[in-house]
Amino acid sequence: MKLFCFKIALPTLFGLFFSVSTCLQAQSIDESIDKIYPQLDQLYKHLHQNPELSLQEKETSALMAKELRDLGYEVTENIGGYGVVGMFKNGPGPVLLIRSDMDALPMEEKTGLPYSSTKKGITNDGKETFITHSCGHDIHMSVFVGTAKMMMQFKNDWKGTLLMVGQPSEENGMGAWNMMNDGLYERFPHPDYAIALHDDPFLPAGMLGYKSGALMAGVDMMNVTVYGQGGHGAAPHTTIDPIVLSAQMIEAYQTIVSRRIAPTEPAVVTVGSIHGGSVHNIIPDEVTMQLTLRSYSPEVREEMISSIKRISENLAKAAGLSEDKLPTYWIRNPYTPALLNDPELTQKMVSVFKNNIGEDKVQEVQAQMIGEDFSRFGLQERNIPISMFYLGATDPETFKNAKEKGLDLPGLHSPYFAPLPEPTIKTGVKAMSLFAMEILKRDEVMMDNKK
Ligand SMILES: [Zn+2]
Ligand SMILES: [Zn+2]
Repeated sequence: MKLFCFKIALPTLFGLFFSVSTCLQAQSIDESIDKIYPQLDQLYKHLHQNPELSLQEKETSALMAKELRDLGYEVTENIGGYGVVGMFKNGPGPVLLIRSDMDALPMEEKTGLPYSSTKKGITNDGKETFITHSCGHDIHMSVFVGTAKMMMQFKNDWKGTLLMVGQPSEENGMGAWNMMNDGLYERFPHPDYAIALHDDPFLPAGMLGYKSGALMAGVDMMNVTVYGQGGHGAAPHTTIDPIVLSAQMIEAYQTIVSRRIAPTEPAVVTVGSIHGGSVHNIIPDEVTMQLTLRSYSPEVREEMISSIKRISENLAKAAGLSEDKLPTYWIRNPYTPALLNDPELTQKMVSVFKNNIGEDKVQEVQAQMIGEDFSRFGLQERNIPISMFYLGATDPETFKNAKEKGLDLPGLHSPYFAPLPEPTIKTGVKAMSLFAMEILKRDEVMMDNKK
């Protein structure tokens, strides 16, 4: 380990000293993580078996609050719902925010693991459902608690203020918005940096993924309600059929990405649900469509929304509908902004990972059109550099086997998603803690330099 560290040390005297000290820290952090792992494993399995839906994370957030309080963090609960902040002031220096999400999904687990979730609950619209951590937010929380422990144990190695943020309701895009609206950035020291991770089923456990710049897309949820003039199914000529009209609209929406958006710009328009009518022989009055829109820039987002409205309105007019029967729209507020990783902060992160976890354990990943409301922590007007990395979660044997045989691995939100806890959590804690210490150390170094 030591030899490896010397090899990567910077040629300046100052750099050499800095790199060596980072590596020594990496060695002792391994031993410390090994020691606390049994507690983290227990915590992970408890969280896995006790998942809670978005906006309902009462017990989960109380548990996160207890873990942080027991470690000596100053804890504030119920921020924007079940949001939790654990603050630790460790002398002068930058403010770093580390975020974990806490919610699970309304679905049944089918992994067959001995610690599978069998929990049921009621969705926010009143339906009974199974609940499962099939996005791996239980892994995130276990890493979060492990990191909180490491940051306390190694508090002599860094200076500044640490904000450990447990965020509710990531899956419905509300949690970060609710915490911001409840004064997260006003009631606590304003962060200089915010960092987070997401587990990744398409990387083996022990691996880390990074991407500078665009990582995840901006997300909109939109409803289009199409009106018509209902009547007997046997006399369509006496009606204006909103089902046929909706079908024309869906066809025409396909030209938005292909003909309105520059081919170099990523964009998605998906109609995910269409509901109208009740029986075979009645032409209904109304159809509702639910769409999701994905984009990376405000201009593309605007173009998609305005195109949907223009197409829908003009097709409705072409069908002979009067002004008072033109389609109506609903767009979920808040939308989820695109997640853009700060290049400088991400570069810093990659160096820490390569130097301390291994050059061959770090891999650049592709941007995707999925969304994550961690983006809201660094919105442009707030001007806070953010970076989220991917944490490999799949059993390396399963991964190898799937690759050799060309099999698909279960992705996030799959009922078969089954992270391998030990190497995933240990790698996550090490990566997150060393990245955090580098940020807090680096700025101390920079400040010392300025003196
Ligand atoms: Zn998810
Ligand atoms: Zn997630």
